[in-house]
Amino acid sequence: MRLIAANWKMNKTVSETEEYLRRFLEILKPYEDREVLICPPFTSLYVASRVLSGTGVRLGAQNCHYERKGAFTGEVSLPMLKEIGCSYVIVGHSERRHIFGETDELVNRKIIACLEEGVRPILCVGEKIEDREAGMTFKVVETQIRIAFSGVEGMTDRVDIAYEPVWAIGTGVPASPEDAVEVHRFIREVLREINPRAEGKTRILYGGSVNPENAPEFMKHGEIEGLLVGTASLDPESFAKIVDSF
Ligand code: PEP
Repeated sequence: MRLIAANWKMNKTVSETEEYLRRFLEILKPYEDREVLICPPFTSLYVASRVLSGTGVRLGAQNCHYERKGAFTGEVSLPMLKEIGCSYVIVGHSERRHIFGETDELVNRKIIACLEEGVRPILCVGEKIEDREAGMTFKVVETQIRIAFSGVEGMTDRVDIAYEPVWAIGTGVPASPEDAVEVHRFIREVLREINPRAEGKTRILYGGSVNPENAPEFMKHGEIEGLLVGTASLDPESFAKIVDSF
């Protein structure tokens, strides 16, 4: 089943969250063939879980800590997220990696913690523009994936991956669907090598300047098993159109 996920980043207060979700639920068609996921900021998770309860729309967090509890000021743990109703968490988003210095090793610890807690991670990978220009896209993406699964190679089926080229995020310049498909096929190969028994069980999403106009072009391709949407998910009408784009 394909997954269409909204990453609100650091946007929307509690009241704005409630207003958005009430409108979104009004216009969202009933689907049985796709999963819809909203990842609001931490402060909005509680109200979102109440509004979304019983609707089938999934709730996810944008980040987590790898420890269950303790002296980690400002962090949020997986048991906290689970209790509030999160079934997903975005791990290793490029803004976490490049603004907040998250390393592949830290991402690996978070993936392991998610697997231990039974919260499905959406592992974000993607190259910077200088990597692409240097012909390093595959190498960068492969390294990110191999380190992320280090020690949990047999559990690739419990993770989804979002291919998000850094240069396409929030820029209004998406990858071409053909370029995205090429990387998605490569990721599938890497996953096959890491865990041949779980072939096809990890969904590979595309993210980076997806909008209602270009979403159908991505979703035409069977290799693209979902979308992770930032800017265009901030408006309920726009996100509902993206969900409806295939
Ligand atoms: C994202 O943040 O995951 C993202 C894809 O953002 P945008 O859609 O704004 O490029």
